[in-house]
Amino acid sequence: MNLQDATLLRADNFIAGRWMAAASGQQLEVRNPADNALIVAVPDSAAADAQAAVDAAQAAFPAWKATPARERAQLLKRWHALIIEHQQDLALIISTEQGKPLAEGRGEVLYAASYVEWFAEEATRANGELIPAPVRGRRMMALKEPVGVVAAITPWNFPAAMIARKIAPALAAGCTVVAKPAEDTPLTSLALVHLAELAGFPAGVLNIVSASREHTPAVVDVWLKDVRVRKITFTGSTPVGKHLARESATTLKKLSLELGGNAPFIVFEDADLDAAVEGLMVSKFRNGGQTCVCPNRVFVHDAVHDQFVEKLASRVGALKVGPATRADSQIGPMINARAVNKIMAHIDDALSKGAQLVTGGRRLLQGEGPNYVAPTVLSSATTAMLLAQEETFGPVVPVFRFTGEDEVVRIANDTPFGLAAYFYSRDIARVWRVADALETGIVGINEGALASEAAPFGGVKESGYGREGSTHGLDDYMHTKYLCQGGL
Ligand code: NAD
Repeated sequence: MNLQDATLLRADNFIAGRWMAAASGQQLEVRNPADNALIVAVPDSAAADAQAAVDAAQAAFPAWKATPARERAQLLKRWHALIIEHQQDLALIISTEQGKPLAEGRGEVLYAASYVEWFAEEATRANGELIPAPVRGRRMMALKEPVGVVAAITPWNFPAAMIARKIAPALAAGCTVVAKPAEDTPLTSLALVHLAELAGFPAGVLNIVSASREHTPAVVDVWLKDVRVRKITFTGSTPVGKHLARESATTLKKLSLELGGNAPFIVFEDADLDAAVEGLMVSKFRNGGQTCVCPNRVFVHDAVHDQFVEKLASRVGALKVGPATRADSQIGPMINARAVNKIMAHIDDALSKGAQLVTGGRRLLQGEGPNYVAPTVLSSATTAMLLAQEETFGPVVPVFRFTGEDEVVRIANDTPFGLAAYFYSRDIARVWRVADALETGIVGINEGALASEAAPFGGVKESGYGREGSTHGLDDYMHTKYLCQGGL
């Protein structure tokens, strides 16, 4: 990897202000999904490393909590400036370990940085309340306090943004952090922690350990059992989220869970079809379709179905697939063989149950590496197909035909998940009706790009709870303490 600043490529854990190998000396190989080439080996941590990280975070907590909010904000602003300064290198690290095209890697760095800047500002506004006392002789107030040590566990699909939007509000609130990035993509997180060290956060305030998928449960188990860890913030799959909810119940930790989705994208007969196609291209094909808010089911009204599918197919068929570092690539490799196998199984299942292949539907560029999938459109999709029930997490658009508003809203909601939903309509009454009826935490109305540091991001139902970004994002790392003074 040709970095301008080679010190960004870290291959150690960071605990108590020091970079170190795993206590066991074991390592985890990080590979480029474009060709499976080894990039570097990082620590494959175990319980001892997780324990050391909590010890450091707990030791640092009292002083960090007592640090004035403005000073915490200044450190976050310095971190933000360093991320911006190193955006090219960070983008290259993201694209090399995760596979998204370089332009998207740069976009992700700026998106991650926006959370650091936002929470630097929010840190200074964690106001409490003065409560009018209902009886004489009392003064009553509510103060916001940091919850304590926070454990952050993140997925591979946005290796910079997911960790930034957990660490930044935690540090802004006055919490200290132990973090574990996804096993496929630890290098971006380690680089961000290196920049945080340069920004000058005190030792122990931010700690990170990497671990293989095999050793991750042992690491996280230490954090689940330790009473000093007061919050777990997790982004990833629903089964792991449920495991964390169950296991953290024994010490009643605060939890934020950003889990899987099964987003509907509805195109009504009164929609601006070109805008709808554009919105779908933006929301579906970002990161090769490996995004939790990606439309997973596309419902198109019978009256505009054929026209929409034709416009969509010509756009999807023209997408350029290739290695992330090639300038014209729009879709990079999928993250690993497991992901490719799931995508192909969904396509095969749909075709065997009557779906029509409009474009794509096969592996691509196998000479370049094993992880490329052709951007795919399938029509005549039905709810009996796997891709209607589970996240495909790849560049596949299944199109369903519908005729009635009530019917499509009912089918859109007929899933255990409730993260994002999208719809296109120019009928103002319908816009409000459908926005109210959709059972998701996020709704895109005539818009495909929804994420913003200023907005609350999160789901309902089995997509989890808690919100990231916005003022709600800071609240999730604080509790409210009620003070009552008598004898006035
Ligand atoms: P995953 O749940 O397998 O992994 C996420 C993280 O959990 C990783 O760090 C992993 O090492 C860790 N993990 C795995 N097993 C664990 C265990 N037993 N105990 C504790 N931690 C464990 O998910 P993934 O494959 O990395 O990511 C894809 C999934 O994440 C998709 O379902 C996607 O929808 C979801 N996701 C959700 C959001 C969101 O904001 N809601 C964002 C991105 C991804």
